[in-house]
Amino acid sequence: VTVPTFLAIARPALDSRAPAGREVSRSPKAGARRRRGVAVSSWAIGALSALLAWQGWQALASSPDGPRHAITAEGMVLVGPAVLAVVAFALLAERLWPAVPRPLNSVGHRQDALYLAVYVLVAVPVVTLLGTGFAVTVLRLAPWISRHPFAGFPRWTLVLLAVLLTDACNWVAHYLNHRLGTFWRYHALHHSQEEMSILTAFRAHPLVHASFQVAALPIFLLGTAGEIPLAVLVVYIVLSTLPHANVRWSFGPLGHLLVSPSYHRMHHDEADLRGVNLGTVFVIWDLLAGLAVFPTKGSAPVATGLRGRPVPVEQSPDAGSCFEVLVRQLFDPLWKPTQQPLPEEARR
Ligand SMILES: [Zn+2]
Ligand SMILES: [Zn+2]
Repeated sequence: VTVPTFLAIARPALDSRAPAGREVSRSPKAGARRRRGVAVSSWAIGALSALLAWQGWQALASSPDGPRHAITAEGMVLVGPAVLAVVAFALLAERLWPAVPRPLNSVGHRQDALYLAVYVLVAVPVVTLLGTGFAVTVLRLAPWISRHPFAGFPRWTLVLLAVLLTDACNWVAHYLNHRLGTFWRYHALHHSQEEMSILTAFRAHPLVHASFQVAALPIFLLGTAGEIPLAVLVVYIVLSTLPHANVRWSFGPLGHLLVSPSYHRMHHDEADLRGVNLGTVFVIWDLLAGLAVFPTKGSAPVATGLRGRPVPVEQSPDAGSCFEVLVRQLFDPLWKPTQQPLPEEARR
């Protein structure tokens, strides 16, 4: 199979996993350190994020309410009462109807609870500043985008369009996170969870959000009339959080429209190299791309995580405290991957 060069070097979902059937060292420490070099493109993403965040900070600092107010407001949407209520509800459901039974204080749950704290304290400010910086930069570089060609349309059609296009942009960003090595290095952390639960929704590298900024583009294009109302936005965030729950729900017929926990679990399948079920809330983009795999009734839940543990994980025998694991996981994308590429036959 001839693979274009850029694809050959950008096989993240494949390269980060160990060749099937070969025994791999479960320790990320042993022997790996010497081979790893600086991943320059990962640092570039960090630098770009810092630049955008600085732009965002400056823009917010000159507004009457200031950055602090903006960060609090964003936090109330991203991890506000509705989202926390869903987390509490899912934690209860995971006790009653678990897909994979495990104790509440399992190491994976504790690590992802720490990520919830990181999300509130670090990711929310990062997302706020990045988002503002991205908006300022886009409007400066492409002022034509705010001409609002759809201003005459009824508001509800623009809102519907904004939700759908935002979801489509999230799909594209997620797809690229699985196809481009630089992005994958930041996204791999989310996939490294072997004990998936509702808390895994918050297990994300703060810098992964840089690539998802494109999801804001439809709003710029549709203008303020296409701005997604707060209630709709909260429902959207709730629907994007719930699929991580450790339950067998496939949502019945609705599961062919919305991403369900069973459907998203297959995206986290440690044995599936293709990167299927990339949808955030709607399934349609996976269907259009031929990347939708629906759960079959009665089948056992798939094992999640990354084979060969290319990202340091809390389940390793020598993992150390959850804070040590956190630090190692957050700095991991800055270094070249530990795993060798897969043999040709294992590729798609
Ligand atoms: Zn993914
Ligand atoms: Zn996920």
